Amino acid sequence: MQIITKIEKMQQISDSIKVSRQSIGMVPTMGYLHDGHKSLIKKARENNDIVVVSVFLNPIQFGPDEDFENYPRDLERDAKICEELGADYVFHPDKDDMYPRDFSTFVVPGESMTNVLCGVSRPGHFRGVCTVLTKLFSIVRPDNAYFGEKDIQQLSIVTKLVSDLNLRVNIIGCPIVREEDGLAKSSRNTYLNDEERKAALVLRNSILEGKKLIDSGEMDTEVILKSIVNFINEEPLAKIDYVEIVDFDTFEKIEKIKDNTIIAMAVYIGKTRLIDNILVRI
Ligand code: AMP
Repeated sequence: MQIITKIEKMQQISDSIKVSRQSIGMVPTMGYLHDGHKSLIKKARENNDIVVVSVFLNPIQFGPDEDFENYPRDLERDAKICEELGADYVFHPDKDDMYPRDFSTFVVPGESMTNVLCGVSRPGHFRGVCTVLTKLFSIVRPDNAYFGEKDIQQLSIVTKLVSDLNLRVNIIGCPIVREEDGLAKSSRNTYLNDEERKAALVLRNSILEGKKLIDSGEMDTEVILKSIVNFINEEPLAKIDYVEIVDFDTFEKIEKIKDNTIIAMAVYIGKTRLIDNILVRI
């Protein structure tokens, strides 16, 4: 496995892979890999000739008060994980090469996709995500790219990006990987102290509480939301950013549960903002 840091070098490698008609599976990440990332890499490995994992902490998707500086980094460990899982390349470009001083072109997703859920409290976040992915796809030219359903809004926006801009890559969503007790795996879980780690279970457990109501026949989203919010508010370390029940395809809020509904939330546990969701099928 090779670690590639230069954009031109990655482009040359991709060009020669294309010439040899091999398929490229790509897993875009911000690094500090965990089992969630690993599941994507394994899926890419199963279904492609060549696997490229990008490890790039994308500064333009972080807001000014967010955790860009403190975000955990460990390229050596990431590279070892990628190698063990059979990846062929780790692409780790320099941020000044990705965004030279005169960089001025951005890819902005439609407002209807960003004025809900994470887009509200993270203005500019999905513009940063769409811009970096357009660049990464252009450099690596993957046939398939793998994304986690944990970042469900990102998955939906990237699917739209690729469709709207006719990018020649299949976007493949993969299920959320969780800790044994149900907490969704996240690089940000490393910020949690012991007490916060226990409190963080409130995300998953409140979603399951809502799901239980739905399974018992409750279809009124206001009632379900109220129950979820009350459940979270009982945890003193938790502060809700948002809890929403929306249509999976349009992200519009809905009044009655139907097939393809997502319950999605972002909750601060102490200073750490965590997200989780569930796709409800009826
Ligand atoms: P990140 O490094 O946080 O940008 O994540 C890179 C990719 O891994 C994204 O497509 C995420 O949705 C995915 N991912 C992160 N955590 C998980 C998880 N717990 N289960 C599945 N996929 C995940």
